Amino acid sequence: MSLTASSSPSPFVAGMEPITASDDEIRDALQSAEIPPLLPALAYLTGEMALLRSHLRPDPMLLSMPQGGLTEDQQAEIRELALRTLTAYRDGGCRPASPPDADDLLRILEFAVGGTEMSSYLPLLEEELAYRGEDRRRPAWHKAELAPDLPFQVVIIGAGMSGILSAHRLDQAGVDYIVLDKNDDVGGTWHESVYPGCRVDNPNHNYSFSFAQRHDWPFHYSTQDVLQEYFRECADALDVRRKIRFGASVRSATWDESDAMWSVVYATSDGAEHTVRANVVISAVGQLNRPAWPDIDGVSGFAGDYFHSAAWRHDIDLTGKRVAVIGTGCSALQFIPHVAEVASSVVVLQRTPPWLAPTPDYHDAVSPGLTWLFGHVPTYSELNRFLIFWRMGDAVLEGVRVDPEWKSGGSSVSAMSELTRTMIVAYYEQQFGDRPDLLAQVVPDYPVGAKRIVRDNGIWATTLKRDNVDLVSDPIAHVDAGGIAMADGSHIDADVIIYGTGYQASNFLAPMQITGRGGADLHERWDGDARAYLGVTIPEFPNLFCLYGPNTNIVVNGSIIYFSECGSRLVLGLIELLMAGTHRALEVKSSVHDEFNELIDAENRRMAWGWSTVNSWYKNSHGRVAQNWPFTLLDYWERTREPNPDDYVFSS
Ligand SMILES: Cc1cc2nc3c(=O)[nH]c(=O)nc-3n(C[C@H](O)[C@H](O)[C@H](O)COP(=O)(O)OP(=O)(O)OC[C@H]3O[C@@H](n4cnc5c(N)ncnc54)[C@H](O)[C@@H]3O)c2cc1C
Repeated sequence: MSLTASSSPSPFVAGMEPITASDDEIRDALQSAEIPPLLPALAYLTGEMALLRSHLRPDPMLLSMPQGGLTEDQQAEIRELALRTLTAYRDGGCRPASPPDADDLLRILEFAVGGTEMSSYLPLLEEELAYRGEDRRRPAWHKAELAPDLPFQVVIIGAGMSGILSAHRLDQAGVDYIVLDKNDDVGGTWHESVYPGCRVDNPNHNYSFSFAQRHDWPFHYSTQDVLQEYFRECADALDVRRKIRFGASVRSATWDESDAMWSVVYATSDGAEHTVRANVVISAVGQLNRPAWPDIDGVSGFAGDYFHSAAWRHDIDLTGKRVAVIGTGCSALQFIPHVAEVASSVVVLQRTPPWLAPTPDYHDAVSPGLTWLFGHVPTYSELNRFLIFWRMGDAVLEGVRVDPEWKSGGSSVSAMSELTRTMIVAYYEQQFGDRPDLLAQVVPDYPVGAKRIVRDNGIWATTLKRDNVDLVSDPIAHVDAGGIAMADGSHIDADVIIYGTGYQASNFLAPMQITGRGGADLHERWDGDARAYLGVTIPEFPNLFCLYGPNTNIVVNGSIIYFSECGSRLVLGLIELLMAGTHRALEVKSSVHDEFNELIDAENRRMAWGWSTVNSWYKNSHGRVAQNWPFTLLDYWERTREPNPDDYVFSS
């Protein structure tokens, strides 16, 4: 695997192999091309804007269809054009033209998205694409220039994606730090989620750091082991491992007003407690790593084996066992097919069926031809990343926004939402048409986007139709020693119960005790309803910055890596403010924080996930959506690009 870190040259210039393939080999590779980014990449490569022929431009409404909805004829013509262009490029010595100017880049991007006006996105996209290999989100300042003599220490809690990112950014700015993580390796989610079938549901060409893109992902949606390896390699390539203390579980962080420092207490596996002092604490503890157990009586009274999917028990052999699975969320739909292959029987207990996103290539390896193109055609992989960013990002947000005039009885939120519903219901009918008993159970009655949509390549129907699998949608009464007692008086006998019931996502920063200014206790302040300004700063908690904090999760658009990259830029900007000024501490103004949260709440109520009454992990015990960002990706980028000093209170 080749990984390009920010210190390395461009992944698609230096990392590119020159083309030496024959015409036939190029023609073959083009058969497996992702067509929509092809002409934009060739225009970028050659400077020939004439390649962007209007009759070959995708329809913006069809962008999320396979091959961007382009017809077979259009695809064939694009392949032919590509063949001619690539052979000429090869014969000319593989010399890319000068990068396009801003106007031409805009034309290229607008063509790629089917003509939508993109000028407001251009600066964001230049960062996100990292074309020419530039890391445009790196801090533009260095401590050695700003405050060379100022002692300054940062503690980062967590060595998952957000922790690695924070460490790298601090290194770039020359700021000293340590990372504490309770685990024994980096990767967070991708280190811990070892249940069978675990994989990412954002395409990897988008789910990766902008400054460490790969053009040789083995899968479109990689498996857990591939992602774990990626984050390990990032930690190594960025040289942040040297600063990580593994097996260090943070218990508390306490703000000391007398010297404006945090005291962070962590425990090591031998039970010993240690304290480190820091000017700034960055919480990078994630949202999805503490299992949520369902509120069902008798769980611990079960006589057989039981476990949560977040802590999979590989030591329990499921072969020939009667297995009951509680839950049909993202994780459950990933592991149930694997369990069904070995268990004698599987009963799937469903509270609410998920919406499925038809994704034919969900389990597919990236074909050798496409990998070859990514590795030989400069900008092709990056423009593919951009198209995923757009197609699965802001382009789909409108489809889950509530039209107040729309009357649907709760099953859709707008005409566009109804259209999406109709299209996905047609998919269910195609998948389950021969099993009306299942079809009646699997089609949700809530709007698309009110819960996380689960990717599917047909495996869910195949699994539920197996002779050894039963789907049960009736309510559970309780768990007993022999299995699960149902509310209707029936009983499901089981040897093993697996809980695929998600995470305690609303319980941000738990179970750490965080004590801020004037002895303020974070969890008392939040009272189960976590809030922050831009997901990052909290009044009364000076110099505490969160990544993947409250309201920075997404339902249908984007990836968490994007949010952490934006959030981390804001954090570095805040640290810069501390270094450049005479103040030792800053915290967000309550008024700014409150106003922002009102805005967020109002907008979340206008989104399918906030409007619908369906149960979901996006709502906390107060019924408020504390997880999700309801605005565009562009909006988060703009708001986090640099801190506005007026938003903060500074103290010495
Ligand atoms: C199964 C699964 C699939 C997912 N799929 C996607 C996807 O397709 N797209 C997407 O965008 N996101 C997805 N996510 C969300 C995913 O969590 C984020 O994308 C990303 O991994 C978050 O990284 P993080 O570093 O912020 O948090 P994490 O990966 O959760 O890492 C947090 C780290 O903090 C450490 N930590 C926590 N508490 C303490 C403590 N008290 N002391 C010391 N260390 C501590 C943990 O050990 C962990 O290493 C998925 C999550 C799961 C669980």
